[in-house]
Amino acid sequence: MMHWDYWRLIATISLAGFVGLLFDQMLVAMFLAVLAYALWLQHSWNKLYRWLRNPKKNRSPSAEGVMNDVCREIEWVRKQNRSRKKKLASYLRRFQVTTAALPDGIVVIETDGRIIWSNTVAESLLGVYWPQDNHVRVKNLIRDPKFQALFDSGITDGQFVHVTSPLNANMQLEVKMVSYMGTGRLLVARDITQTLKLQTMRRDFVANVSHELRTPLTVLRGYLETFNEDSPAEQWGAALPVMQQQTERMHVMITELLALSQLETGEKSINQESIDVQALLTSVIDDAKKLEEYQHHNIELELLSNDDLLADGDEIRSAISNLIFNAVKYTPAKCRINIKWYVDSKGAYIEVQDFGEGIAEHHLERLTERFYRVDSGRAQEMGGTGLGLAIVKHILQRHDAELTIESKVGAGSLFICHFPLTNTVAPS
Ligand code: ADP
Repeated sequence: MMHWDYWRLIATISLAGFVGLLFDQMLVAMFLAVLAYALWLQHSWNKLYRWLRNPKKNRSPSAEGVMNDVCREIEWVRKQNRSRKKKLASYLRRFQVTTAALPDGIVVIETDGRIIWSNTVAESLLGVYWPQDNHVRVKNLIRDPKFQALFDSGITDGQFVHVTSPLNANMQLEVKMVSYMGTGRLLVARDITQTLKLQTMRRDFVANVSHELRTPLTVLRGYLETFNEDSPAEQWGAALPVMQQQTERMHVMITELLALSQLETGEKSINQESIDVQALLTSVIDDAKKLEEYQHHNIELELLSNDDLLADGDEIRSAISNLIFNAVKYTPAKCRINIKWYVDSKGAYIEVQDFGEGIAEHHLERLTERFYRVDSGRAQEMGGTGLGLAIVKHILQRHDAELTIESKVGAGSLFICHFPLTNTVAPS
């Protein structure tokens, strides 16, 4: 079928020929008609070109026929492209949101080692910023030799190295390279500071428990080895108190370790009750006065609030006993010990303050670690296990409370248990 354009051309030339015939100038008229048609066509092409270059500013050629079909076809392809672009943009946005939500730092690296994209976590872990670091060589930003060796080796099978974060010397990262889209590579970095800390703590813990239990066991074994059936009664008599003391020590340590592990694993649920703080503190002070180490310490009790404390009675008694007994154990005879209960707008406080020798500043941060003792010889003499303050800290944590320790050598120490206001209640 002949297209409308051909008919139009033929009709124009024929009409021009007919008009030209009237004036005896048929060929000239036909030539002029062809010329006009060619010019009009050229004009349409120009319009089409301008419209293609800038569709928003220029109108499409409004010609009929094939030019119109071309325009419609182009319009359709454009529409298709627009919706494909929209879809791709939404995929890209979803990809970026997903990778940004990942807890790992991710850096996409080209074959030549230059960065082409990274997520936001990579900023805080590796100090790689996108788009600022676009096309920077990753080796220029992460200079740890272990990373550089892994990068140069080209290994992408998930093998990882531990490196220190370029931003923070206390942050340890696990870094691995994964092959990405053929020749590219993906750097994946994970913060493992806490995991490493926990591993060290577990290792130290096992070493400490073994060490602590070995001392009393060695004493007991030593005595038992020297005994035989013929041993005189006096020898037994002298050894028995020491053996009893050491077994008691082991018993306390194991009981405290079990209590601590129960608190840490949260196996025991908190039994919230309304505690009469005055009765609790008075009773713990009475117990403290029965301690062997009690030497007429001057214990003062200041009760500035009538409120009760909402907490687990057994646990709080254990925590406060630890603090008050420590104040008695680690201060000289007749030393003043001040115990205070008060409530203000920020919470409720139980304070145990002594005016003894105090603790040097560099010990304070580690004081609540398991088995940490300032003067291990002296503390062991006192029957201390180094677990007391760790227990206090865990009990308070379970109550959303906090333990603060202030101390000055020669002036004394202040232990503050800070409970949230929600843990106070008017006495029933
Ligand atoms: P311990 O069972 O050895 O008493 P703690 O965890 O209760 O263990 O205390 C840890 C260490 O803190 C003690 O060994 C002691 O050296 C020090 N300490 C605790 N309380 C006081 C205090 N009131 N004054 C001085 N030193 C203290």
